[in-house]
Amino acid sequence: MVCDLNVSSNTLMEQLRSGALTSEALVKESLAAIQTRDGEVGAFLSVQEEEALAQARDIDRRRAAGEAVGALAGLPVAVKDNINIEGRKTTCASKILEQFVAPYDATAIERLKQADGVLIGKTNMDEFAMGSSSEFSALGQTRNPHNLTRVPGGSSGGSTAAVAANMVPFALGSSTGGSIRQPAAFCGVVGLKPTYGRVSRYGLVAYGSSLDQIGPVAADVAGVARLYDVIAGPCHRDATSAQVEATPSLPELTQAISGLRIGLPKEFLGDAVQPEIQVALNRLVDLFRAAGATIVDVSLPHTEYAISAYYLIATAEAGSNLARFDGVRYGYRTAEDGNLRDMYVRSRSEGFGMEVKRRILLGTYCLSSGYYEGYYLQAQKVRTKIIEDFQKAFDQVDVLLAPTTPTTAFEAGAKLNDPMAMYLADIFTVTANLAGIPALSLPAGRDQAGLPIGLQMLGPHFSENRLLRAAYQAEQLLK
Ligand code: GLN
Repeated sequence: MVCDLNVSSNTLMEQLRSGALTSEALVKESLAAIQTRDGEVGAFLSVQEEEALAQARDIDRRRAAGEAVGALAGLPVAVKDNINIEGRKTTCASKILEQFVAPYDATAIERLKQADGVLIGKTNMDEFAMGSSSEFSALGQTRNPHNLTRVPGGSSGGSTAAVAANMVPFALGSSTGGSIRQPAAFCGVVGLKPTYGRVSRYGLVAYGSSLDQIGPVAADVAGVARLYDVIAGPCHRDATSAQVEATPSLPELTQAISGLRIGLPKEFLGDAVQPEIQVALNRLVDLFRAAGATIVDVSLPHTEYAISAYYLIATAEAGSNLARFDGVRYGYRTAEDGNLRDMYVRSRSEGFGMEVKRRILLGTYCLSSGYYEGYYLQAQKVRTKIIEDFQKAFDQVDVLLAPTTPTTAFEAGAKLNDPMAMYLADIFTVTANLAGIPALSLPAGRDQAGLPIGLQMLGPHFSENRLLRAAYQAEQLLK
């Protein structure tokens, strides 16, 4: 049986349903693709071959027997290595958790299992999701499948590279400040950061708890919608989970939105943007206009403070969250444990990488007495202003359209020793996390070097279904 992972998840699903394809053949194809391509791409930290095949055979058997199967039945999914799968390692690409085996399933994983998604492996990332290139992984290097000298973006670079290299049709990533959209843009795939609270954070290793969200990655908008429908919705184990039912987005995805109003935020345009990205944006705007959409210029005036506010809030929360990795309860412990204090210091010094230490120091500093008001509190006020900017914009328009990133994928090593340059890679993505609104990135052509260009669409809280429909429309227009 021949199967091609380079087709849409809709087609794969149809082939599975009709019996033209078995899940076992699909999973074998996925494993073979990992075998041949992942040596150079480096998307996976671990692959669960036997379990995946056994699960696929079981699904095939149930389907053949006419038993009910789930919404993802037989489709392989890759999972970022900061999301717990019971009995498997969750390393966060960190030495401190290199041997840690998760004792329970994240809610998103529980739902994937219920939907009969085949969990094929865990993907590489920046250590503890801190970074924009996946180069801060302590456990391996991921390269951009479109050009191996370029980074895949980060921190969910393993997940987006795995989908871009046709190793899997779907992956889960997580976003605190852009870690789904930015690598999706760099790798030429679709990635959605849902509304804060829409997808349970239970079982996601916390980075910045008020910003973190799990989200889907796929080759097209329909794939993202399919995966999103499975993982979205209330969860009693996460106190920040929104008690708002999520209605399925896939059935209504192809219905065009009549009278769509699209806002272009002027702060996301201008000289800082690579000209080819600006051209791609203009092209989509023209296509939308020709299709009857109304285009409105809008302003999000506090965008210029977003990176500063984000790196204060995210690091403050990270410093607190990462205090639990102390060498005592779980994770890495130094071999030379003298007295208790030395043991803490050595375990953390040896276990955390350079960037994670920088974040902990920054976060601790901005929360310390005497600095709290000037930094953390000020950042929270900026956050409120950013939320208000979006509210005003969404009084006028249904969705916002902007570049996902100022440039296409940069060279490996280019920003490694320049934290400020690395942080600025998130300039267009952090505002959606600060405001808690949903946002996605979709591919919109390539630059002269052949690297994918990503465009971003943002919507009001809990407007995922409409956002996905608008993105689907954009995808059709760009074809
Ligand atoms: N690159 C940003 C950071 O380093 C965002 C990361 C993320 O979304 N997890 O914090």
